[in-house]
Amino acid sequence: MKNLIFFGPPGAGKGTQAKIISEYLNISHLSTGDILRKKLLEKDDLAHELNKIMSSGNLVSDDILNSIVASRLRNEASKGFILDGYPRTLHQSEFLENFLSETSNTINFIFNIEINFEILTRRIIKRSSVESREDDNLEVIETRYNEYINSTQKVSDFYKKKYAHIYHQIDGSSQIEEITKKIKEILKKT
Ligand code: AMP
Repeated sequence: MKNLIFFGPPGAGKGTQAKIISEYLNISHLSTGDILRKKLLEKDDLAHELNKIMSSGNLVSDDILNSIVASRLRNEASKGFILDGYPRTLHQSEFLENFLSETSNTINFIFNIEINFEILTRRIIKRSSVESREDDNLEVIETRYNEYINSTQKVSDFYKKKYAHIYHQIDGSSQIEEITKKIKEILKKT
């Protein structure tokens, strides 16, 4: 069984790679962004609140994210999983560490997809015309990128130190196929 985490700023292509690799390994793909976007369709009070936060590019509260991830992992962890977009704060990573040890699970691979601000801006603008996401515009990109630098990068660094043997840096500026190839090579080697 394989459990993976994908880190990377918005637009790094972690969602695309997580989807491809989850199909390759036949494991669950847990994209917290996708799960939250589905919740927005319910149009209740929570959806309204989430929409305000997400469309501004800020992070949704840890409590909401932790409960979403715990309930999905309780159902799907036995098959193996890819976490895409979680954990994004140190509080989320602490929660995940505890949850995994309580349920006797471990992480086997961590991929950190790196990309610079200029390329990610170009990619997100392109994606906005395909997926029409409200948070894919120039003003919001800056907030999302700052959330990444101020919060998520610290989480990624924490994992890099603690799990150096399973932590892999990936250059996100290459073509999709090339990135997939590199990830598959690492998965096969270890
Ligand atoms: P993504 O599709 O991963 O870029 O996520 C889209 C938006 O969903 C983010 O900008 C946040 O507002 C929210 N979100 C997704 N995952 C998380 C998380 N782990 N913690 C807090 N907010 C999140």
